[in-house]
Amino acid sequence: MKKHTPFPENGLEEAAIWQAMEYARQGDVDWRGGRLPGFYVHFANDEVDRVGKMALEKFHATNALGLSAFPSIKKFESEVAEWALSLFRANGGAASITSGGTESIFIAMKTAREWAKANRPEVTKPKMLISHSAHPAFDKAAKYLGVDVVRILPRADFKTNIDALKAALDDQTIIMAGSAPQFTIGVFDQIEQLAAIASSRNVWFHTDACIGGFFSPFAEQNGHLIPPWDFRVEGVKSISADLHKYGFAPKGASIVAFSDTGYQRYQVFDFDNWSRGRYVTSTFAGTRSGASIAAAWAVMRFLGNQGYRKIADQIWQVREKLIRDIPAIEGLFVYGEPELTVMSYGSKSLDVADIAAGLAAKGWYTVTPSPNPPAINLGILSLAFGEVVDAYLADLWQVVAQLTAGDNSFDRSLVGTYGAK
Ligand SMILES: *Cc1c(COP(=O)(O)O)cnc(C)c1O
Repeated sequence: MKKHTPFPENGLEEAAIWQAMEYARQGDVDWRGGRLPGFYVHFANDEVDRVGKMALEKFHATNALGLSAFPSIKKFESEVAEWALSLFRANGGAASITSGGTESIFIAMKTAREWAKANRPEVTKPKMLISHSAHPAFDKAAKYLGVDVVRILPRADFKTNIDALKAALDDQTIIMAGSAPQFTIGVFDQIEQLAAIASSRNVWFHTDACIGGFFSPFAEQNGHLIPPWDFRVEGVKSISADLHKYGFAPKGASIVAFSDTGYQRYQVFDFDNWSRGRYVTSTFAGTRSGASIAAAWAVMRFLGNQGYRKIADQIWQVREKLIRDIPAIEGLFVYGEPELTVMSYGSKSLDVADIAAGLAAKGWYTVTPSPNPPAINLGILSLAFGEVVDAYLADLWQVVAQLTAGDNSFDRSLVGTYGAK
């Protein structure tokens, strides 16, 4: 029998708690130092960070399950939802705040499946069609919801292979989705074309703008050509967009938005066969942090449209530098044509796993390269990375030079993972 560490009998002094926690985090990645290119932490600047943190603290005890007890949270959620719908160019529509991209995708898929039950009653084995680059959250949702998933291998430019998708589209298909952009190579799927195909077959269409949703509107205003992805596209019924990514809100906040308020009846869980009576929720959670909603409101209101435009411009400059300077390093190239702020690079001559190990050895938190195509994923999620991007490029140049010279002594065990294993 395995014995577990017993729960300590007595409490610790507060000072000892902080000491233990500071000690525990010695091994954590130095995200504020920018040594974390492309994963896990989005950061705009110290002021935005402080505003989010203070709002979390002020509203830490609130519960967004009880909106009548906390009208403040109700106001914050409805205003953030309104702002998001306006940024996503919805004409009408509705939006909810969830705990993250995975939950937003889940709620959109749940709504789509309920919609299909009402509107496609002939379907017995519901099926979802997505490109191979779509986030695993779609399969996670499909597993919970009893929907089959078919992932279509992409074209050479990493966008959806529409011919293959059409061949797979059958009378059981109830959902199609595209990414705007996808998380690794950074290209947008052909949302207009896909949504039109979906519409013509009475299939639900979802745009996954988890990463891009709170960046694209501002990049577009800054004059960049962003492929169509939002509610201006006919046939887009739902959008997922993470406030805790380019919304720069503290983690635990995302938007799931719908083109029509009529879909709320498929979204909402409304139940009354319980001893306490009626129980209604719009998202997966019961008890739900009001703090992360308050913090998302605070950050959005603090920055305003102009604040986001300025940050988007700063991030865009880092993107331009990376797209220009990475291919200038011997043998390296950027895959496809990244259309926003995430990209992936590979090497014509070296194993990217060795490059990743070299970067890790130089103190850059690096996750295992993606296997197909073999690539190191890089995104400007954080302007803390922007502050040290020149050092990153210099180290990358050195790692490649050392590997090219045949010195392959980097320790691969220092490389991390995306996900919990
Ligand atoms: C981050 C991301 C998700 C998942 O979001 P979480 O907040 O990690 O649950 C889904 N799709 C895309 C494109 C993403 O970038």
